[in-house]
Parts: sequence; structure tokens; C-alpha cells
Amino acid sequence: MAAYMETECEGARVVYISSDKGKGLVAQKSFKSGDVILEEKPLVCAQFSWNELYKYKACEFCLKSLENAEEMVQRLTNDPSIVLPFPECCEVDATKFAFCPQCQVLYCSPHCRDAALNSYHQALCLGSSRENPDHPLNQLINQWRSFHYPPETGSIMLIIKTIAMIKQAKSKGAVISMFSTFVNSVINEREDIAHKLLGAQFLDQREILRSMLAEVFFEESVQEWYTPEGFNSLFALIGTNGQGIGTSSFSRWVKATERLQLGDAEKEQLDDTIDKLYERLEEVSGSFLDCEGSGLYQLQSAANHSCVPNAEITFPHGDHTLSLVALEDIQPDEEITISYLGCCGLERGRHSRQKALKENYLFTCNCLKCLSQCDDASITTEEEEELEEDDY
Ligand SMILES: [Zn+2]
Ligand SMILES: [Zn+2]
Ligand SMILES: [Zn+2]
Repeated sequence: MAAYMETECEGARVVYISSDKGKGLVAQKSFKSGDVILEEKPLVCAQFSWNELYKYKACEFCLKSLENAEEMVQRLTNDPSIVLPFPECCEVDATKFAFCPQCQVLYCSPHCRDAALNSYHQALCLGSSRENPDHPLNQLINQWRSFHYPPETGSIMLIIKTIAMIKQAKSKGAVISMFSTFVNSVINEREDIAHKLLGAQFLDQREILRSMLAEVFFEESVQEWYTPEGFNSLFALIGTNGQGIGTSSFSRWVKATERLQLGDAEKEQLDDTIDKLYERLEEVSGSFLDCEGSGLYQLQSAANHSCVPNAEITFPHGDHTLSLVALEDIQPDEEITISYLGCCGLERGRHSRQKALKENYLFTCNCLKCLSQCDDASITTEEEEELEEDDY
């Protein structure tokens, strides 16, 4: 059998990371369609910087949405008169929030505050300067924001928090080796990823970010990260491995109302209210409805892409906890695959799927669907045109 890294999930071995043909996630037992294969918390995650600036209030550690459902809807529809029925379906409880005593940054619970303090926040706490735009770390974040407009796909905070974890760790080597398990791309592909994250001006911009980071947050044990090549690899790492996270107390409220025991008329009225609210949300805030960020997940990042995946990623707890759910029955030793494309992306033609995967994740997809469509002579000019128009 190929060399592999065994992994444990709540004590039971459920999957392993194969290093057979590149990296891959392989089932170690059988799963039925709908089973939760594993749940995983990120090594590090961070809210996107514009998302935070626009007052999507999220726990600094787990990204749980901290506005209650009603406050969130009022803000996103720009209508403070909205009153949500069934307020008991909202799980946000401000009496459980906790603050960092030095900088007052907000957490959903004392548990999250302590976890952040023990992992990275002591090295990162700005104390009374947290909101001071002249603090060098805030200048770096503002600089990133000025280079990277919504829709956001990455965050320099992932890099900053990772360095803070290393600064704070008793055993720096252990933390560094955890991050070194992420796939590293070859050098010219790293250029492409940095380009994708920052756009046309990327060379100058990356150099500005790199020198600012070296000045304000240097860490000797990973000094190679501060060289141009090392900084490029960090960008590639967050670009190809960063998993998007979205949380919303409003959508949690909607889910909770679905479990209410209601009469038919009452149920119909509630559905109508929710439909109308979603319409207004879309009118005013478009697709920016969630607290958004990204995180690095060790197991999930080992899962390869397929255009016909046998598993999908969900966030069932309204925080950064990722759940990998089987979409079909899976046998032991079968590879577990997920889709790197959104569901709309998956419905596109092969050319367009492959273009997006090549640009964003640096590989050519050879899944069964792509191979069969490759043989298929019916690839039309219409699809070729779609390819021209596509701009991911
Ligand atoms: Zn939290
Ligand atoms: Zn603090
Ligand atoms: Zn494919």
C-alpha cells in the first residue's frame, strides 16, 4: 500500500491522506449517501477584510455571525423597522459574548476568546491601538484592502494569523510542519495565483505587502517566508487551499423556523414573509448576505476535485466547522472528491470548467465526466463561445 498519513476523527479512523498519485483523500470505511464523513475545524481562519469593514459582525475566532437575525436583516435591507416573528428561533445570545480584555475584540463565547488567546491572539493583540489606522499592522491590512476588492477570495489576515501562531507556539517546529503539509505549487504557477489574487498590478502590490509584513511582523523561524519567492508561496498556499466560509444568523433563523410545528395557514404566511425578506435582501445587498472569510483545513484541502464529486462541503453549525457529507455511497479505499467549483460552475460545459480550474487551482481536470465529454464529438461552437466570454 502507498505511503499515507493516517488521520483520526473523534477517535475513529475514517479517512486517510494518500500520497499515491499526488495527494488525495481516501475513505477508510464505508459511508452511506448523506453520512457525515468527517467534521473539521480549520488550522486558522479569518474574516475577509471588506466584509469586516462593512460591519458584518463575526466572532474573531470561529466567524459565527454575532448580530441577531433581526439586526442582520435590518442592516442588509437598510430598514430598521423590520420585525422578525419567532425571535426564539435566533440562536445569537449576546449575554454569552466575550471580549479580549486588552483590545475589546469580540468573540461569541469565552471558549472562542480563550482558544484565540492560546493560539495566536496574544501575539496579535493591538491593545488600545486596535482601531488606530496609523498602527503599522492596521496600515498593512488597509493596504491589502486597497489592492483586493470584493468579491473577496483571500485574506492577508490568514498569513498574519499563521505567523502569530508560530510566534506564540511553545514548539514552533510543530506549527510550521502543520502548515508545510499543504500542497505547494511550482514557482511560475505561484505567480499566476498571486496575479489572480491581486490583479494586474500584482508585482508592485505584492512587493509593497511583502516589505510591510517584514517590517511589522517578522518571525525569524520562518524568515524564508519574507523573501519574494517565499512570500509568493504563501500567496499560493492561501489561494489554492483557502476554503471560503460563510455564516449568517438570518439563515440560521430561517432553518430553525423550518422545524417549528405550525398550522398550514401559519406556515404559508411564514414562507411568504421569508420569500419577501430574501427579495428585499437581494435588492439592497445583492449576494453579500453573509459574514465571509476563509480558512485552511488540513483534511478538506487534501480532497481532490471532481466534476461529479461523491462528497460536498457544508457548514452545519453556522461557524467555521466544516462538514464533509457523502453525496453517494462510498466504499473503503475509494477516493473522496469534492467540487472546487460552485454549483453553477459545475453545470457549465467542460471547456469552461477546465478553464476555471486551471486558472484558480492550477490543474487540468481528468475526472470521468471531463474524460467522457472529451471523447464526445458533440462539443459545440456554442460552448467554445461560452469559453471566450467566461471571465472567472
Ligand atoms: Zn466563536
Ligand atoms: Zn486583544
Ligand atoms: Zn472534471
